[in-house]
Amino acid sequence: MHIAMIAYHASPFATPGAGANGGMSVYVRNLATQLARSGHEVDIFTGAHDVPGRHRIEPGLWLHALSDDDRERDLTRRVDHFAERVLEALDRSTSIDAVHANYWLSAVVAHSAKHELGLPLAVTFHTLERAKLRLGQPPSHLTEARVYQEQRVLGCADLIVSSSRAEATWLRTLYGPPRGQLVVVEPGIDPAVFSPTLSRGPARRAIGVPPDASVILWVGRIQSLKGTALAVASWLELDDPRSHLVVVGGPSGDDGDREFAEVRRLAEDAGASDRLHLVGPRPQIELGTYYRAANLTLVPSESETFGLVALESLACATPVVATRTGGLAEIVDDGRTGALVDERTPRAFADRMALVLRDPVVARRMGERGARRARGRTWAHTANDFLTSLADLSATPLDACASCA
Ligand code: UDP
Repeated sequence: MHIAMIAYHASPFATPGAGANGGMSVYVRNLATQLARSGHEVDIFTGAHDVPGRHRIEPGLWLHALSDDDRERDLTRRVDHFAERVLEALDRSTSIDAVHANYWLSAVVAHSAKHELGLPLAVTFHTLERAKLRLGQPPSHLTEARVYQEQRVLGCADLIVSSSRAEATWLRTLYGPPRGQLVVVEPGIDPAVFSPTLSRGPARRAIGVPPDASVILWVGRIQSLKGTALAVASWLELDDPRSHLVVVGGPSGDDGDREFAEVRRLAEDAGASDRLHLVGPRPQIELGTYYRAANLTLVPSESETFGLVALESLACATPVVATRTGGLAEIVDDGRTGALVDERTPRAFADRMALVLRDPVVARRMGERGARRARGRTWAHTANDFLTSLADLSATPLDACASCA
């Protein structure tokens, strides 16, 4: 197949872990790479890559980085401009079989491609505005436009690729049944990066934490939604002077800088700054070492559509203590590969972490089971499932789509 992937707002080839670059970038890069390596052709279009131009990434995989430097214009006009250029490129290519959009802004672009060029439309939303609102997050100036577009795309897309059963349920209940096929395709891990080790010692030396400490790891884009400050508060609640917290990632979103300041303040006030390691965003290739160094990974997010960090940790045989929400509840098997926490309080997270930390035998068994769970879910599996869903796809008529009228 020849697939056009749209990733307008985040470059799949930027270092994830800060700004707009997170799980979606990792997803698009790995899915596209696996598809290309299994003999398919993939053209990725982004408006967020540093070096504009057409880049050959590897055989079968191209990145079309369209410059998006006209920051003066409002988002709608920038997306429209990006869409025009993507459509021109798609129109020149006679062999595209389907367009796969990632996130709502890209879905707007791919939706035009279906209308203008008759191409089958597949969408992965990654996050849904109504799901965020339902969780109590405040609306933004884009909320109305985003909900409208998400609803509109759901009325026209031929295939919706959800990353978790939870996301599929949110889609159905918050937007109504989509017009096209709805499938759940779990994201995966790269086993060359995320794999277990027999001994933590070398990993701890590599990242500079003491060999005999209890090491808790937090990985992601620093923002309140991800619970970075809550992770610090939960770690402090353990009240264990031998414990260290390692935070990998940088500020992201509207409240990222505030959350980062809060992280530092909490540790300073507790006199624990020397045991808090703020290492900033790290390329994925390094992350296996961080997970392998840790006794557990803490994922206290308010919500996660999937939660790649949790799966990566399990792949390194490191148990996960996470909020019981969204995809996290599908990744972590409570009591067997880690713990799921209902109440997002420092006390509740600390209690569950203490259970893992105080019993090395339990922790080791959890790690072994986690590694088995994740071994069965590499990006090769994801690409395979994705292709199966895409194989029979054809563009359904446009008559039910609001934008056809
Ligand atoms: N990540 C990374 N470097 C960092 C921080 C995060 O490579 O410094 C990656 C992490 O390995 C994971 C992704 O960013 O693959 C975050 O995905 P997740 O689904 O956990 O959260 P999202 O960003 O989608 O909200």
